[in-house]
Amino acid sequence: MKNVLSVVVSVYNEEAVLELFYKEAKKVLDKIPWDYELLFVNDGSTDRSLEILEDLADRDSCVKVVGFSRNFGHESAMIAGIDYSKGDGIVCMDADLQHPLSCIPSIIEKLEAGYEVINMVRTKNESAGWFKNLASSAFYKVINMLSDVKFESNASDFFAVSRRVAGVLKKHYREKVRFLRGYVQNVGFKKITISYEAGVRAAGKSKYSIRKLVQFSVNTIVCFSNLPLKLGIYAGGMAAALGVLVMIYTLFTRGGAPSGYATIVVLICFMFAILFVLVGIIGEYIGILFTELKDRPVYIVEAEKNIEKLSE
Ligand code: UDP
Ligand code: MG
Repeated sequence: MKNVLSVVVSVYNEEAVLELFYKEAKKVLDKIPWDYELLFVNDGSTDRSLEILEDLADRDSCVKVVGFSRNFGHESAMIAGIDYSKGDGIVCMDADLQHPLSCIPSIIEKLEAGYEVINMVRTKNESAGWFKNLASSAFYKVINMLSDVKFESNASDFFAVSRRVAGVLKKHYREKVRFLRGYVQNVGFKKITISYEAGVRAAGKSKYSIRKLVQFSVNTIVCFSNLPLKLGIYAGGMAAALGVLVMIYTLFTRGGAPSGYATIVVLICFMFAILFVLVGIIGEYIGILFTELKDRPVYIVEAEKNIEKLSE
C-alpha cells in the first residue's frame, strides 16, 4: 500500500486565497509518489472560508475539513490538524502560499530517507518587513540565551513530521500555553533542515498583529525557561551588596554619607521598579500555571467534512 502524506493547512479568514491554494496544491500533490489528504483546519473564520472549504470537500474527497467553533489561534489549528491527520508523514503549512508547495517533493524524499522531523528554515522573508525580521531574530537570540533547549533561528510554522513524531505530539505535548515549533525541534529523532525562501502573501492580510507576537514571545520564554524566576535572587544579592557598601562607607566617614532627599527618592524608585518587575515576572508564570490548571480544551470542533472517525 502506498504511503499517505497529510498536508495540514490552518485557515483564518483566507477566502481570498483558498481556491488558488487548492489549485496550486493539487498541481504539486498529483505528481508525488504518495497518496495524500489535504486537511484544512478552519480556525473560526468570519468570512466565507468555511463555505469555500466545504465546497472543495464536496468536489474532492482528498479535501478534509475540520472547523472550530471560534478562533483558537494558529497553533491550536496546527495541533488539531496533527490530531486528525492519518498520514505516514504530516506537513503543516500556511494557506497564504508563503510556504512554497514546491518543497513538498523534497520533504517526501527526506521522509523516505528515514528522517522523522523536517524543519523548514526560511532564508528570506520579503513580505514581513524589516521590523518583523529584526524582532524575529532578536526573539530567537533571547530564547536561545535563556533556555536549555536550542531553537533553530528562523524556523517557521512550516515543518514536517513522521507519524511516530505526530503520535508523540498528540499524546505528550498537550500544554495549553505552547510553542509547537519548539516542541517539534526538541522531540529528538532523526532530523534535518531544509531552507526555503518565504514568498509574499498571495492575497489577503497577515493575521498576526504586533501585540499577538509580543504575547506569543512572552509565553514562549515562560514555557521554555525558568531563568527569569531566578532574577529575583540576583537582584536581591545586588541590593544587599549595595546596602553593605553604603553601610561601610557610613561607618568610615562617621555618618558623613550624603543625606540628600533626592538621592533617597531616586534609590527608592529604583528599588521599587526592580521589585515590581520581578512581581510581574512571577505573575506571568502564575498566569500560565492557572491556565494549565483550568485544563480548558485546546480547540473545540464544530464542523467536520470528509473526516472518518479516528481509530484511537
Ligand atoms: N491563522 C490561523 N489562526 C489565526 C491566525 C492565523 O489559523 O488566529 C493562519 C492563517 O490563515 C495562515 C497562517 O495561520 O494560514 C499564518 O498566518 P499569517 O499569514 O497571517 O501570518 P504571517 O505569515 O504574516 O506570519
Ligand atoms: Mg503568512
